[in-house]
Amino acid sequence: MIQLDGGNDGGLSGIYGKSFRQSRELSKPAALPLTIIYDKFAYAGDTVSVTITGGEHFETTLETIHNGLTLIDLHNDLLEQMLIDTVYHWMPEHSYHHTDIPRLIKGGVDIQFFAIWISPNSGSYTSNPYQVAQAALSLFNRELDLYPDYIRQATTFDETISINYGNKIAAVLGVEGGHTIEDDIDNLIALYNAGMRYMTITWNNSTDWAVSAQDARSETVGLSDFGREVIRTMDSLGIIIDVSHVGIKTVQDILATTTNPIVASHSGARAVYDHYRNLYDYQIEAIADVGGVVGVVFYPYFISGSRTASIDDVIAHIDHIADLVGIDHVALGSDFDGIEVTVTGLEDVSMFPDLTLALLEHGYTRDDLAKILGKNFQRVFEQVCGKPPAKYVYR
Ligand SMILES: [Zn+2]
Repeated sequence: MIQLDGGNDGGLSGIYGKSFRQSRELSKPAALPLTIIYDKFAYAGDTVSVTITGGEHFETTLETIHNGLTLIDLHNDLLEQMLIDTVYHWMPEHSYHHTDIPRLIKGGVDIQFFAIWISPNSGSYTSNPYQVAQAALSLFNRELDLYPDYIRQATTFDETISINYGNKIAAVLGVEGGHTIEDDIDNLIALYNAGMRYMTITWNNSTDWAVSAQDARSETVGLSDFGREVIRTMDSLGIIIDVSHVGIKTVQDILATTTNPIVASHSGARAVYDHYRNLYDYQIEAIADVGGVVGVVFYPYFISGSRTASIDDVIAHIDHIADLVGIDHVALGSDFDGIEVTVTGLEDVSMFPDLTLALLEHGYTRDDLAKILGKNFQRVFEQVCGKPPAKYVYR
C-alpha cells in the first residue's frame, strides 16, 4: 500500500500541495503489480499521480466513496422557480437558484426527482393547477431536449440504471399535491404518461378527497372514496405514494388501501423537531413496516425550527430514523429550490459530498452510505416502478 500523504498526515491537502498534475506514460505497465487502497478519502473530484522509486510515474482517477455510490435526491423544486424564471436553463453553472447540471455533477447526483408543484393559493393557479402543470412539464422537457448529453428522463428503475451507466443524470418527475389532478383520474393517468413516478398526495392544502398535515382535521379525517380510487389507480399504474405534507388520518387510510411501499419524499422526525411537516415515530414505523423510506429534508425550519441549521441537524434526523427503524428506511429529499434558506454547508445541489463526509465522520460506514444515498429508495423504485412503461394503462 502506497502511503499517499508521505506519512506526514497531510492527507489530501498535502497531496494537492504537490504538482501531481504532471504525468508521463508508465514505462513498465506490465511489470508493476501495484495496489493502491484509498481508504482515507470520503470524496474528491480529481486525479492522483504517483512517482515510484526508479522513475515510473502514473496517474489514476481517485474513486471516492461519494462518487462510487448512487445518489438519489427525492425532492427538488427547480421547476417551481422556472415557472417564474422561465429563461433559466440547466446550463451553464449559475450563482443563483440551487440547481443546474454543472452543480448536479459536482454534487454527484445520479438520480434527481423534479417536483411539479403548482401553488393552490395564488392568483389564477387556484382554478387550473393541472393546466399550469403542463407549463412546468414543458419547461422540464425543454431542458431535457437541450442537454441530452448530460441528463435524460427516466420512467423506470431500469432506465435510471442505464442512463447512469451512460454517465448521465437520470431525471424523474414527481408531482407535489393531489390538487394538481383536479379530481380527475384521467389527469392522474395523463401525468403518469408524462413520466410522473411519485405523487405527493396533498401539499399543505387539503383536497376534497385527502386531508393535509396542516389541516386542523389532520387526525380525524382522511381519504374519501375517490381518494381511495386515486390510491388504487396509483398502485395499478406504478406511481409511488408520497406522504410528505399529508395528514395523519390520511396516511393511515393510504396504508390501509395501498399494496405498495410508500415514501415521505421530504420530511424529518417530530421526535427531533416537532413540526407538522415531520413524522411521528409511529408514522415512521408504519412507513418502514411496508418497506418504505423517509427522505430527510434539508429545510432549516423543519429540522431545527429556525432560519439556520447545520449538517449535524440533518444528521440528527437521519440518526433518529435509523435508530428507530433501521438504516434501510433512510433516504434524502433536499427540497432545494423550494426553500428560501438553506442548511449551512448544504447551500445547493453541489454540496451533497459534504453530507457524505459528515456522515462518514459521524460513524456511518460505506455500506450505510450506499443505502442512505440510494439503495433504500432504489428498492422502492424497483418494486413500484420497475416494470416497463405501460403503453395502454388502466381504463
Ligand atoms: Zn414540499
